[in-house]
Amino acid sequence: MTQKRIAVYPGSFDPITCGHLDIVERGLEVFDEIVVAVANNVGKKGLFSIDERITLIREATAGFSGVRVDTFDGLLVDYVIAQGARVILRGLRAVSDFEYEFQIAQMNNKLHREIETLFMMTSVPYGYLSSSLVKEVASLGGQVDSLVPPPVHKALLEKFSHR
Ligand code: ADP
Repeated sequence: MTQKRIAVYPGSFDPITCGHLDIVERGLEVFDEIVVAVANNVGKKGLFSIDERITLIREATAGFSGVRVDTFDGLLVDYVIAQGARVILRGLRAVSDFEYEFQIAQMNNKLHREIETLFMMTSVPYGYLSSSLVKEVASLGGQVDSLVPPPVHKALLEKFSHR
């Protein structure tokens, strides 16, 4: 029996957008299982709690098979090994993403030689899309329904309804 090909897709996912979902969907063409791993970064306070982010990711990926949603703290490479995975999946948008991602990928490879970081280019319609931009636009009352999955759209409307 061949081994299951597992990739860990880490990030803040505050909240998950259609750009993230596109990477998950395309990642499933290459991997048997994708673990969407929400980083529990104590120094970084988000709009949504970790639990809320996990719930939204679960709802948004309910139609896919082969997706697991989890959270982690500590070193990503340790988490990846503990999952029985060897690949970290990341998305790349503009050139501006490159320098940061390159640095992290080099460091992670230095920490654990057997771990590879695999990058998938964003799909053209989502090239400009980020969670922070979505939050900013939604907080100002702009339409983001075509940029985020329906449960996230609903959650954003609830978060900003008091404004
Ligand atoms: P982080 O804080 O770790 O960058 P994010 O949730 O912002 O977490 O992003 C997680 C991953 O998803 C990153 O690799 C990021 O480049 C990628 N990503 C985010 N938005 C998009 C998008 N629109 N298209 C492709 N990849 C994306």
